[in-house]
Amino acid sequence: MSETMVYTCDICKKSKSKDDLARITVKADGIRMKNVGYSGIKIDICPECLKRKGFVVDFPENKEEQEQATLKNKATLEDKIYDFLVDMGVAFTE
Ligand SMILES: [Zn+2]
Repeated sequence: MSETMVYTCDICKKSKSKDDLARITVKADGIRMKNVGYSGIKIDICPECLKRKGFVVDFPENKEEQEQATLKNKATLEDKIYDFLVDMGVAFTE
C-alpha cells in the first residue's frame, strides 16, 4: 500500500495531491515582514486558486502563446503577491 501524502492549498485550504500544487516562495531579504522566518514563506497553491488570481494554468501548445502565458504569469505574480500574503495572514509591516 502506497502512502499518500495530503497537501493543502494555502489559499482555499482544500486538500490536494502534491502534483496539483504549485509552490511560490517569498523571500523576505531586506524586507521586514510579520511572522516570516529568515528562509521566507512557502505558499502552496492549487490550479483553481491560480486561475482565480488570473494565472494561465493550462499552457497552450503553440510556442508563441506559451511565451505570452509565461510573461502574463510573471506579471500576475508580481501583481498578486501581496494578495497571497494577505490570504496567508502575512502582510508587510510599515
Ligand atoms: Zn486552492
